[in-house]
Amino acid sequence: MLEKLGDTLKKAMSKIAGAVFVDKKLIEEIIKEMQRSLLEADVDVKIVQELSEKIRKKAEEKIQGLEKKEQLIKLIHDELVEILGKEEHKIAIDKKKKPFKIMLLGLYGAGKTTAAAKLALYYSKRGLKTCMLGLDVHRPAAPEQLEQLAAKVNLPAFINKQEKNPSAIWKEFEEKIKKYDLVIIDTAGRDVLSSALIHEISQLHKEISPELVILVLPADIGKAAASQAQGFKKACDINGVIVTRLDGTAKGGGALVSCQETKAHVLFIGTGEKPQDIETFDPSSFVSRLLGMGDIKGLLEKAKLAIDEKQQAKMKSRMEEGKFTLDDLYDQIKSMQNMGPLSKVAEMIPGMGSLKTKMPNVFDVQETKLKKWRYAIDSMTPKERESPELLNSNRISRISKGSHVSANDIREMIKQYKLVKGFISESSASGLGQGQMDRKTMEKLAKKLGRKGLSGLGL
Ligand code: GDP
Ligand code: MG
Repeated sequence: MLEKLGDTLKKAMSKIAGAVFVDKKLIEEIIKEMQRSLLEADVDVKIVQELSEKIRKKAEEKIQGLEKKEQLIKLIHDELVEILGKEEHKIAIDKKKKPFKIMLLGLYGAGKTTAAAKLALYYSKRGLKTCMLGLDVHRPAAPEQLEQLAAKVNLPAFINKQEKNPSAIWKEFEEKIKKYDLVIIDTAGRDVLSSALIHEISQLHKEISPELVILVLPADIGKAAASQAQGFKKACDINGVIVTRLDGTAKGGGALVSCQETKAHVLFIGTGEKPQDIETFDPSSFVSRLLGMGDIKGLLEKAKLAIDEKQQAKMKSRMEEGKFTLDDLYDQIKSMQNMGPLSKVAEMIPGMGSLKTKMPNVFDVQETKLKKWRYAIDSMTPKERESPELLNSNRISRISKGSHVSANDIREMIKQYKLVKGFISESSASGLGQGQMDRKTMEKLAKKLGRKGLSGLGL
């Protein structure tokens, strides 16, 4: 469900989690990525722009002090929840009101009949004596479809295959349904919201006076859900919406946001063709799932444990001065190792999991190397760590003996270290981003180091 939108948003979140600093550049990048993915999901341009502006403004005003990453992720979460309707709108079925009547409305193919069976199953599982009533007299075989679905969920459906007047069918079963707690009423649609449909709906609404009227909207209409909801609202009071077929479209985000725009609260979402494929809609948990918050939270907690803010600040100022010694490299390795096995850390980052299946050894190799480097640095004198250019072959063989790391491994480490240091002094000399490496330099560096090098160090 909403895989594409979820994927890009999750990636953006892990980018925040993995970032060294939360700065303007990062925030702008994240906003851009969010904009792209929301527009792709058919969310209205105006809403996307307003959302970006809000995130930008609040990030500037509110994000400060410790835990900036958490604050940024929470800010994005909250703003997305806001455009999806804030809190969950629960519907209460009054059991004293027998039968409690829910009338479904919608155009052809919106998913009304399917939703009738889904809702019936949903509430009967929660202990309500539930039945369905078929008032779609327009679509050929509509009663049969409801009959089949009813058999599937093992609940009664009242239908009349001959009668062409929905009011007559209502009168026919009005008494019979009184012994049920809840009746879900399926109605007819049309291709468009025509005056004939509006007339039929208002007529039935008057006769039945349902406790709840729910509009059924298919997610694939995207942001057009707003105008459709508006149209139906004019014809009849609507208590809420079911957005169906959220499983089969990239436009579902647009449909959900669009409903909120017209204050038509999404009560349920349909996530498949089967009667059990229905969920209540809680914007907050929906967004958490979309952003992969569970994973992100774990990742942030680990990152926080590993790198304390003081150390981070120290690192930053050293980098600004273009300094990077083997001590710094050592600290970086330690931080990485504090986060746990690399492969476990990678699992939590969307996209990295697949890298692990493709190249099962890559993290182990990296991990072994990091361990060796740490041992080697352990066997160096403070002077050597501060000024690695002192490391001639005599010293290297001494360190090799002391640490049981081969001279070749030590040389490779020195090579990698020099490469990173070169980049750091280069970017600090050019004054990029007050001494921070900019994204391009990082990419250049990552390319040069390849998978063999320090790319796993988060530099
Ligand atoms: P109605 O004309 O409004 O009564 O729509 P139907 O209930 O007959 O549904 C139209 C089509 O959409 C059918 O093929 C359903 O199986 C399908 N459908 C309904 N809800 C969902 C859903 O949540 N997911 C998917 N994938 N298909 C659905
Ligand atoms: Mg139908």
